[in-house]
Amino acid sequence: MAYVINEDCIACGTCIDECPVNAISEGDIYTIDPDACTDCGTCADACPTEAIHPA
Ligand code: SF4
Ligand code: SF4
Repeated sequence: MAYVINEDCIACGTCIDECPVNAISEGDIYTIDPDACTDCGTCADACPTEAIHPA
């Protein structure tokens, strides 16, 4: 299981600095590599728009 970023993402960049395994990539909407994500939840806690949830 991995976390996923939904359309509420405003591309603020906060989560990319929080991920300990660098699983998050930039874009119009940021994305999480499901193979790299360890399901720690740190990014979800940091997201200002609550755009990140467990898949
Ligand atoms: S912290 Fe949330 S709003 Fe900001 S880039 Fe990450 S997913 Fe998007
Ligand atoms: S849940 Fe943890 S490992 Fe997965 S993308 Fe978020 S911060 Fe990275």
